[in-house]
Amino acid sequence: MLGPPGAGKGTQSHNLVNDYNLRKISTGELLRKEITNKTSLGNQIRSIMDSGSLVSDKIMNDLISKNLLKNEIYEKLIFDGYPRNLNQAIELDNMIKVKGKKISCVLSLEVDKNTVIKRISGRQTCANCGLIFNKYFSPPTDSNHKCDKKFLIKRSDDNETTLENRFDTYYKKTLPILNYYKKQNLLHKINGMAEINDIYKEIRGIIASIET
Ligand code: AMP
Repeated sequence: MLGPPGAGKGTQSHNLVNDYNLRKISTGELLRKEITNKTSLGNQIRSIMDSGSLVSDKIMNDLISKNLLKNEIYEKLIFDGYPRNLNQAIELDNMIKVKGKKISCVLSLEVDKNTVIKRISGRQTCANCGLIFNKYFSPPTDSNHKCDKKFLIKRSDDNETTLENRFDTYYKKTLPILNYYKKQNLLHKINGMAEINDIYKEIRGIIASIET
């Protein structure tokens, strides 16, 4: 699942996990957990994440291979926020190729910067269940969110200054991956500015077309 910050990667991948029984690997979530748990890796990466730059490929490749190996699961995976540059995309291919697996589909959520700024300024993430809300457009309620309100947090990198850099990083480092996947006929571009449910319908349609 690719897309700039605030494109809806977390929300849409959450839907897919439930409906297709997938296992999600969100590198942003894994990194934030390291920071919350105050591990030595967490201390190393905090300022990088707060600045909106990318954590080094070495750290990311170790983190991904550790997660894949830990569960010995190399299929029915969905990656959210990874790969973020060409190096990582190639490394991911290598890691799964040795297990005889391949990527079946790359979804790119396309959104413009103004939409993202609005979305991110109201974003609230549940530190307990990982669900993502927006206090203006899709607030947490008793029916859509079961955890205590105390778990709702605003990400420290969800501010306008960091957002500029996160956008910049996306255009410079992550966009070239689209071409890499396009050449392999894996890329599906999706209008990420449509309604959440309509985006999800489109994604389901793409997956159905792959399965048949
Ligand atoms: P995200 O939750 O995907 O928006 O990621 C939040 C931050 O974590 C990013 O701005 C980066 O600093 C870092 N990060 C997440 N995934 C990666 C990755 N694949 N490579 C490098 N840095 C990452």
